[in-house]
Amino acid sequence: MITLENISKTYRVPVRNAGVKQAISSFFKREYRHVHALNQISLNIQDGEMVGYIGPNGAGKSTTIKILSGILYPDQGKVRINGLDPFKERKKHAQQIGVVFGQRSQLWWDLPVGDSYELLKDIYKISNEEYEERLGEFVELFELTDIIQRPVRQLSLGQRVRCDIVAALLHNPKVLFLDEPTIGLDAYSKQKVRELIKHVNRKYHTTVILTTHDMQDIEQIVSRVILIGHGEILYDGKLNELVKNYGTKKQIKVSFKGELKENPAYTILESNQDSALLQIETDLALVITKLQQSLRINQLEVLNMTIDDVILNLYKEYHV
Ligand code: ADP
Ligand code: MG
Repeated sequence: MITLENISKTYRVPVRNAGVKQAISSFFKREYRHVHALNQISLNIQDGEMVGYIGPNGAGKSTTIKILSGILYPDQGKVRINGLDPFKERKKHAQQIGVVFGQRSQLWWDLPVGDSYELLKDIYKISNEEYEERLGEFVELFELTDIIQRPVRQLSLGQRVRCDIVAALLHNPKVLFLDEPTIGLDAYSKQKVRELIKHVNRKYHTTVILTTHDMQDIEQIVSRVILIGHGEILYDGKLNELVKNYGTKKQIKVSFKGELKENPAYTILESNQDSALLQIETDLALVITKLQQSLRINQLEVLNMTIDDVILNLYKEYHV
C-alpha cells in the first residue's frame, strides 16, 4: 500500500544573470527562484494496482517518483510504502522497490549486462535458486540470451531499457516504478516492455506506477489514471471514465463537391476546396443530413478518438 499525504516539494534554483558584472555580484549575493514542483499531493495506491501517472512535461511526475523511491525528500507531507518511509528507511525500502528511468541506465556502463546482474544479486542478497529462476524467466520473455553477454554501452536503446527493467525486477520488488520506460523505443521494444510489465503484475502481484506520454502504454497496461498538472492532481480514476467524459466527440473526414457551410451540428476543424475535417457536435446522421443540403459527399471516414485526444481535451479543460 502506497500513501502520499499532502506532499509538497519546492526546488530552489539560482538565478543566473547575463553579463560579467551581474555574474560577479550574484556570486556574492545569490538570488534564487522557487519552483513549486509538487503542491499538496495526496493519493493511495493498493497492492497489485497498475497506475498510469500522466501529465505534460514539468508537471511533477519525476519528482513524485523520486520521492516515492527515496531519492528526494519532500518539504512537507508524509509518504509511506508498506509502512516504510522511503527516505529515512532507504536501505529497507530499496529491497521492496524497483525503479527504472527510461532516460538513464542504472547498469554499469562498461560491464556485460550479466555481470551487472551478478552484482545486483549480491547487493540484494538474492538466493541462487531465486536468481536463476527469475533471470531465466525474464531472459526468455525479453529474448535477452545474447544481449546480456554484451556491455551496456554496445546496446541499442530498446535492448538497454529491457535490460534495465530486468535489473529492477531481479529481487522481486513489491512495487515497480517506471519513469517513461518506453520513451524513444521502437514498436517491438515497446510491445515487449508492455508484455513484461503485465506479466510481472499477473504473476507476482507487483504494484506498478508508470509515467508515460505514450497513450498506447496507458490503454494496454493500466486501469487507473492519475493526471497531474502544475504539481497538483487533476484527475484520479478509471481510464474508461476518462474516455467517456472527455472522448465523446468524434471526428469525420469528408471529401465532397459543393460548398461547405457552417452549422451547429458540427465544427469545421480544417477545410479546403473539396475535403474537410469536422468534429461532430450531435449525431452523425444529422451531420450528414445537414452537409447534404449544400454539397454532395464523395467519401466519408469516421475517425475514432484516440486516448491522445482524450488527454489533450483533459489538459485543455484543466488549463495545464
Ligand atoms: P515531469 O517529470 O512531470 O516532467 P518534473 O518532476 O521533472 O516533471 O519537474 C517538475 C518541475 O520541477 C519542473 O518545473 C522542473 O523544471 C522542476 N525541476 C525538476 N527537477 C529539478 C531540479 N533538480 N532543480 C530545479 N528544478 C527542478
Ligand atoms: Mg519526468
